[in-house]
Amino acid sequence: MRERIVVATANPDKAGEIGHALVDAGMELVERPSDVPEVEESGATLEANARLKAEALSTATDLPALADDTGLEVDALGGAPGVWSARYAGEQATYADNVEKLLFEMAAAKRNARTARFRTVLVLAWPDGRELVVDGVVEGVIAEAARGTEGFGYDPVFVPAGGGGRTFAEMDRAEKARLSHRGRALRALVTRLREADPTDSEE
Ligand code: IMP
Repeated sequence: MRERIVVATANPDKAGEIGHALVDAGMELVERPSDVPEVEESGATLEANARLKAEALSTATDLPALADDTGLEVDALGGAPGVWSARYAGEQATYADNVEKLLFEMAAAKRNARTARFRTVLVLAWPDGRELVVDGVVEGVIAEAARGTEGFGYDPVFVPAGGGGRTFAEMDRAEKARLSHRGRALRALVTRLREADPTDSEE
């Protein structure tokens, strides 16, 4: 795939997962210029936030820009933290703060009432105004305690379906990508780009 894409995330953990998938699909990644300011995530939905980030970077760089917005939806918490996942424990919350708050809020939830899902929305915006929107979802449960050291964010407390009971933080990057919300969304994006340009091979 010949698309040159700039990735609109300053989060190195997310950028790493996205970059590997796009390079594997044959795309050329352009480094996000450090002088382009981060966009405030003021949208009410994952899609609105991803669009804000993608459009701003595409305008600034005159390149197709890809943005990811991700939320963890916990059924026992009415879908929270959802679009607020990054700021769950406060504006300056660390990954550890958010995990701690989630485990605290879930302390009373029974083993069979810990269902949750990760949802990623990707928006690829071109400078001429075209855009592509895809999403990826993985169902799972919230673990009773943090386990594992791989990954980032809520990975130590999310046990995806199909992973043999391990958290994402107990998997390497390739295995997480096979099961994860972001992996699924990225595969959907590559499929859509190939449909748009059928001269590309599957290799
Ligand atoms: P955002 O998409 O950068 O707003 O991320 C929302 C929140 O979810 C942040 O706290 C991230 O650390 C967390 N998050 C995003 N993607 C993942 C993931 O793949 N695993 C675990 N946590 C994630």
